Amino acid sequence: MKFYMLLILLFVSLNVYSQDIDSLVIRNIYSEALTSFTSYENLRELCKNIGGRLTGSKQANDAAKWYFEKLKEMKVDNAYMQDVMVRNWVRGEKEIAYSNSKSGRFEFNVCALGISVGTGDKGITGKVIEVKTYDELKSLGRENVEGKIVFFNRAADQRGYSTGYGYGSSVGQRVNGAVEGARYGAIGVVVRSATVAYDNFPHTGVMRYNDSLAKIPAIGISTKDADRLSELIKEDSDILFYFRTTCMQNPDVPSFNVIGEIKGSEKPEEIIVIGGHLDSWDLGEGAHDDGTGMIQSMEVLRLFQSLGIKPKHTIRCVAFIDEEIDQKGGRKYAEVVKNKNEKHIAAIETDGGGFTPHGFSFDVNDNQFDKLKTFQIFFEPYWMHLFVKGGSGVDIGFLKETGAATIGLIVDSQRYFDYHHSANDVFENVNRREMQLGSASIAALVYLIDKYGL
Ligand SMILES: [Zn+2]
Repeated sequence: MKFYMLLILLFVSLNVYSQDIDSLVIRNIYSEALTSFTSYENLRELCKNIGGRLTGSKQANDAAKWYFEKLKEMKVDNAYMQDVMVRNWVRGEKEIAYSNSKSGRFEFNVCALGISVGTGDKGITGKVIEVKTYDELKSLGRENVEGKIVFFNRAADQRGYSTGYGYGSSVGQRVNGAVEGARYGAIGVVVRSATVAYDNFPHTGVMRYNDSLAKIPAIGISTKDADRLSELIKEDSDILFYFRTTCMQNPDVPSFNVIGEIKGSEKPEEIIVIGGHLDSWDLGEGAHDDGTGMIQSMEVLRLFQSLGIKPKHTIRCVAFIDEEIDQKGGRKYAEVVKNKNEKHIAAIETDGGGFTPHGFSFDVNDNQFDKLKTFQIFFEPYWMHLFVKGGSGVDIGFLKETGAATIGLIVDSQRYFDYHHSANDVFENVNRREMQLGSASIAALVYLIDKYGL
């Protein structure tokens, strides 16, 4: 009996000791992240020396080379680029839009939506009709829509705590507005920006066409200008709207995913991957979306190196190309994983901006979730309270069928859509500490998964 008690005591104390060690390692990870300026200065270089990185652009490929060089400078065990063919859509000249009505002529802040066709040099003019839903459009019918410009003006729902809710409530008209307009014979569409912000900045983002319908040009309009256009339409239903875009599609071009890794000491063939996306939209600098994510991913490796943590599994960071348009990078990465029969035990994505982290969203089975919940206690000192089941990320989503546990970093979303896909997504709007809390949180989770498995 006594011996048995002793064993239990020994086990309990070893367990406590191990917890103390883990708490200490994690404390060191956060301390190192919060006192280091490396990531922040890397983000400055990326944003200020390269800037926006539209898929298929020279800037995107410059960023890939820059990321590769950074990984080599860090002397990671292995750094390489993975070839990916991508779309090459170019924005062209600054977009122009104005209205003519009884009230006179007004100009609007607009931008072409991603992959839209252009209007041609002369632009297009038409009567403009406002709708908030496809049902409204349907009830107007072809007789009222043909030859006109459709203005989709459904505002983002502000009621959700997460601003992703508001984005989700309005982004559909950006993605499918041109298809629905073309269905009824419209010559172009103007779409209220998918954002909870109220300002003069238009937000771009990807849209889609349907090959069996006419491809008509689409622009985004700032939320304030959307309200103004709506007022002008109410004053004068014969209002004419003009816009000009010179965006166009060139043939596909070669581009890259960029990968860095620290080899595992015990199970190098088993991989834990951390990723963000290398491409961005072109109106801003792609700072929050997703410069912070690609740099946080690299930073996890740097934190392991600088604290001398030797992982048992291989820890890999990936900067994925083409998240914003066709996700060719994420698809290619997963295809190579399958072809090489690589084993990914977990994949973590950070693509919600470099804001204060609040936890993780786990796309995992019940057993994995139970195990992950036992890690939660280590994150309490850092106010990372959310350990929830949910979605992970677009790029790593393709890894799910390989059996990888996929995980997303949850961050404070209140300011994300102020910047997202607009000219405001710049370095100045990133806070060094907030971004580094994200890097540290991911590194801490990777440390625990590496040590205890999944
Ligand atoms: Zn993104």
